[in-house]
Amino acid sequence: METTIYQDTTTIRNLLCGQACNIVIVTHRNPDGDAMGSSLALYRVLTKMGHQVQVITPNIYPDFLHWIPGNEQVLIYEKKKREAQEVIGGATIIFCLDFNDITRIREFRKLIENNPAYKVMIDHHPDPVLFADCTISDISVSSTSELLYQFFRELQLMHFVDTETATCIYAGIMTDTGAFSYNSSQEQTFLIVAELLTYGFDKDKIHSLVYDNFSADRMRLLGYCLNEKMKVFPDFSTAYISITQEERDRFNFQPGDSEGFVNYPLSISGISFTALFLEKKDHVKISFRSKGDFAVNQFSAKYFDGGGHKNAAGGESKLSLEETLRKFEDLLPGFSKDLKENND
Ligand code: 5GP
Ligand code: MN
Repeated sequence: METTIYQDTTTIRNLLCGQACNIVIVTHRNPDGDAMGSSLALYRVLTKMGHQVQVITPNIYPDFLHWIPGNEQVLIYEKKKREAQEVIGGATIIFCLDFNDITRIREFRKLIENNPAYKVMIDHHPDPVLFADCTISDISVSSTSELLYQFFRELQLMHFVDTETATCIYAGIMTDTGAFSYNSSQEQTFLIVAELLTYGFDKDKIHSLVYDNFSADRMRLLGYCLNEKMKVFPDFSTAYISITQEERDRFNFQPGDSEGFVNYPLSISGISFTALFLEKKDHVKISFRSKGDFAVNQFSAKYFDGGGHKNAAGGESKLSLEETLRKFEDLLPGFSKDLKENND
């Protein structure tokens, strides 16, 4: 598998450095810090260059990302379909950030796919699908935000980067590495962070805005999940948490409230594979995490219609929550050897 696809950027450079364009930036469903950080960093640079730019997300995203500079102009497709359709229709360039496959924006996939605009994909997920006119993919970087910073360098756009842009990129790198606890072993990531810090934003404040911004309900839900909803399977080095609709209602669940829950069981000694099952209206949203060699993206792709990175992936199930949990538990014995070896 290729780790880097860096296609010729001459065309996009010529387009961006020519006359003003209508540009749309789209990112994946349930946008995370990297999706928003990279989209809003690109938004800021392109706007400074004189282009007309619109960021469009498929659906809403958590409150703890709303402080990111430029957030107020984001268009949420699910809320304003007409407006979004119009803007997409008038785009001459479309950037697709932080997703490797057009199916990740399923609601308005057709609008993008059938659009004659010049498309650029910038992403760091494994196995990219080559749907864009220009694909910039590198799975060795920490985040799309890091790759975007390299893209700015490559296109010689660094003079458009300011404190707000540096803030957006830092937010993306920080969130996609769990505040530098994983996906951040390459020195390049820290060299870029060092450069970003010269722009003079408050690093500690950014950490606090993302990680110390929870509601009391969310903290109580976390306590409840760890105490009453966590199932541990020591023989398979596995643990999972599940949350029903009723529990979501009981704890006044807001989007993003379960962010990070899937990581907690990984702190248990001997546990190297974790999952979080979140019951939604017509499906179960699943997050997977692992330590070591157990590839959760492959597991998710094979059994739960998903994908992602080797140690952090997601998927979904159309079965009921109960049936989904049974399916998951039934799969574990088949991976007994892999999970055991992974833990040694
Ligand atoms: P999370 O568990 O934080 O939602 O997602 C972890 C990783 O898995 C992210 O990199 C995300 O892009 C990917 N991911 C999450 N859900 C899905 C999904 O339904 N399909 C695919 N292909 N990837 C997903
Ligand atoms: Mn990312």
